[in-house]
Amino acid sequence: MGSYFVHTFGCQMNAHDSERMESVLFAHGWVAAPSAEEADLVVFNTCSVRERAEQKLRSEAGKLAPLKRRRPDLVICVAGCVAQQEGERLLRQIPHVDLVVGPDNIAELPALVLDQQSGAPPRAHTVFDLDRPRFLPVSYAGGAAPPSAWVTTMKGCDERCSFCIVPTTRGPERYRPADEIVEEIHHVVGAGAREVTLLGQTVDSFRDPGLPPPASADPDETQFPHLLARIAREVPGLLRLRYTSPHPRHATPSLVQAHATLDVLARHVHLPVQSGSDRVLRRMIRRYTRAEYVTRARALQEARPDLTLSTDVIVGFPGETDADFEGTLALVREVGFVSLFGFKYSERPGTPASRLADDVPEDVKADRLRRLFELSESQGKAHLERLVGGTERVLVEGPSKGGSAGAGMQIVTGRTERNEIVHMEIPEGVDATGAVVSASITRAYKHSLRGEIAPADLRRMPRSAGRKRRALPVLGAP
Ligand code: SF4
Repeated sequence: MGSYFVHTFGCQMNAHDSERMESVLFAHGWVAAPSAEEADLVVFNTCSVRERAEQKLRSEAGKLAPLKRRRPDLVICVAGCVAQQEGERLLRQIPHVDLVVGPDNIAELPALVLDQQSGAPPRAHTVFDLDRPRFLPVSYAGGAAPPSAWVTTMKGCDERCSFCIVPTTRGPERYRPADEIVEEIHHVVGAGAREVTLLGQTVDSFRDPGLPPPASADPDETQFPHLLARIAREVPGLLRLRYTSPHPRHATPSLVQAHATLDVLARHVHLPVQSGSDRVLRRMIRRYTRAEYVTRARALQEARPDLTLSTDVIVGFPGETDADFEGTLALVREVGFVSLFGFKYSERPGTPASRLADDVPEDVKADRLRRLFELSESQGKAHLERLVGGTERVLVEGPSKGGSAGAGMQIVTGRTERNEIVHMEIPEGVDATGAVVSASITRAYKHSLRGEIAPADLRRMPRSAGRKRRALPVLGAP
């Protein structure tokens, strides 16, 4: 035992896995260290979806080689998707790494580290828990959950998108029983969370392992909408419910209906499309057409007229022509995404697409990405400008990382019921974290908004000292 430092790369799934690693280490008497240099255990929680994350692991782990020479008792562990994919090879490639631990083996981490501290040889442990899947709940240091918490509903992926390594690194789909999911949401809400994001690789493919399959002729229908309804019904203290990332295939009429009827559902869905060309979608094995995607996106927008959509796009996939890419730009305009994550295709070893020629030149990929971002930023900015002059309910997440406040004031940041970021000024000494406030929107920036909290709301905020987050008010008009 001793102190740990977890370095996280990649997506929300990985960030949540890091929370779980910290929970199991904390439960075994470990404490967080302020930096890798001061830790007895350093965990690199890796991602192999993007090439850069893998390069980053090698570079960051390389920086620890001199420290490991000075302190041979330091345990260096690689976890996450790169660990699962590379296994023992990593021990040979980065010789000062002691442990390699797969995403399904987080529960064993304390025991494996203890073995290392007792002099065991370097070890890779990357076993999928296929027969008895485990979903470790997160426990928060000090018992207080953040205003916005994540709860896992499933793991793995049964899709076979040709560019993606996740089905290999995370294994087949396994679902968490709905009872367990609801229980964890009860727990995090009781610990102060106001908002929960359900997490899964294809979160809307959820099937409750304790129930028979949904009675529907539509093979894409799942029990996810029932799960949403059950959470809404059984956790009345939850103010907002989000989910990420859904597969467009399962954005079925019953999910659309859930958005129309469940007020707790956030007015925003991140619905990855990847391309606006049927030819490219087929080569990506996305299992929907451009028209099907647009129909589902439209249905969601019609179910909640203020609902916004964001997406993921890959440019320069093997064989993508100028016409294919123009189809993607047209789709971005047609659906009216307010933001997107765009990536240049890069070959991932072990994926089906790695057998295709990576034939779009690098400068063409870069130019397509630039044009994609230009379009998405202009749509995003126009959307934010439309909100100026209105009032939004904002969940305050904490102090802002940037921005300057007037004398005696501080800037805090929160999110609207859709997902816009709002910066607001409040007096120093007032703790608004976890409060839901009514904010007048006064200005639109490139990616965020400026808002003003009503003075009456501000007066009802607690001072920093001694407050309990769960006692924070919900202010402003509903
Ligand atoms: S749905 Fe496709 S892109 Fe998403 S994790 Fe599964 S294989 Fe990867």
